[in-house]
Amino acid sequence: MKVLVDPRAGFCGGVRRVVKMAERHLEETGRPLVSLGDVIHNEVEIGRLKELGLSGTGYEILDGEGMAARQLLIRAHGEPPETYRKAERLGIELIDGTCPVVTRSQEIARSHYLAGEQVVIVGKPYHPETIGIRGHCDGQAIIVYEKSDIEKLNPHKQTFVLAQTTVAREWFQERIDWIRARCPEVEVQVENTLCRFVVGRDRDLEHFAREVDVVIMVGGTKSSNTKALFEVCVKVNARSQLVVTEADLDLNCLRPEDTVGVTGSASTPHWLLERVGNYIAGRARAEIIEAESNGRKLKRYRFRRRGSPDPRWRKEPPFDPPFFEGGRENAQAGVVEGADFAQQDLSRRARTRERSQSAHGLRGSGLSQPRRVLEPRHRHLPDYGRHLHALLRFLQCQDGPAAAARP
Ligand code: SF4
Repeated sequence: MKVLVDPRAGFCGGVRRVVKMAERHLEETGRPLVSLGDVIHNEVEIGRLKELGLSGTGYEILDGEGMAARQLLIRAHGEPPETYRKAERLGIELIDGTCPVVTRSQEIARSHYLAGEQVVIVGKPYHPETIGIRGHCDGQAIIVYEKSDIEKLNPHKQTFVLAQTTVAREWFQERIDWIRARCPEVEVQVENTLCRFVVGRDRDLEHFAREVDVVIMVGGTKSSNTKALFEVCVKVNARSQLVVTEADLDLNCLRPEDTVGVTGSASTPHWLLERVGNYIAGRARAEIIEAESNGRKLKRYRFRRRGSPDPRWRKEPPFDPPFFEGGRENAQAGVVEGADFAQQDLSRRARTRERSQSAHGLRGSGLSQPRRVLEPRHRHLPDYGRHLHALLRFLQCQDGPAAAARP
């Protein structure tokens, strides 16, 4: 099995920027920070940031209700001017993480609104970014999402159309056609405010999903970008899976000859993709490859399972039997295609597992040894980081604490 981690997946520039802002602020001040709404639509990353001291709050805080905060982080989606005014009145300092691409949309919309034009935003009516842009037009911009929304347009007024940055290009074009049909007598000016990160992503992902046998889309349950990208994958690859973490994987669907592609949306951190990729590779003893799509060079890594210092693992079955179609029974009966291992190997492995389970008091649990619990500060690190840390600790033990202090 091969595992490809999509290098084009992971945070977009705007999300990376706001997460870095939060991390820097927490590190420099040493005080907890509050964000207005979830800073990112990914539960796992939110959990990591929470451990560092970042929590989310609702808009009631701007009405003076609930917890008191001295500083508030504005997320990448941006906010309407009303939010800034309310915060100022309450004496709350705002740390503005609005993505520059969104700021540009807000400024363009406002300038056309001030010029007396009818501003139309093509996007989701309840999306924070759309609400923010509308706020910059004093709440007068018209949001077009469904066909019935174009009834709200004045067909005789000069019209300016822009899009929520994350909608699909074809979806945007369809709505432009509706608006032009509704306002045939006036000039309808259209500004392409789609985010370049998102525009090319569909095409790249489609290409990636075609290249692999199974797609594992990693993303948060609240992320609409994850759902949209998963639909793109499903269209070209019926064996796509949508997971939040490696715990949701259906590993029984994977076959030894498969190439598994691990990808994610703009709100999925790359470290999580690597963790899921490493998990699959670890379970399958597979080769993990960080692929560059669009024909760029492939970067290859070979991972060996921890605790297998010699090449004997190659003689063992490349998977734990339940990974094969038909499960353990088929594997033990030797009917699995491509299974190049002997029956005695399985028996030996079963005996070893039983011994290990007895030693750890884990009989019947399905585990052969206790789960390794990572210390919180290690959880976000990829495997090589932990190896490095273990090595440093080892050196510290060898040479005494003074060795660690040496430059
Ligand atoms: S998707 Fe684009 S516009 Fe939205 S936050 Fe990311 S970089 Fe900014």
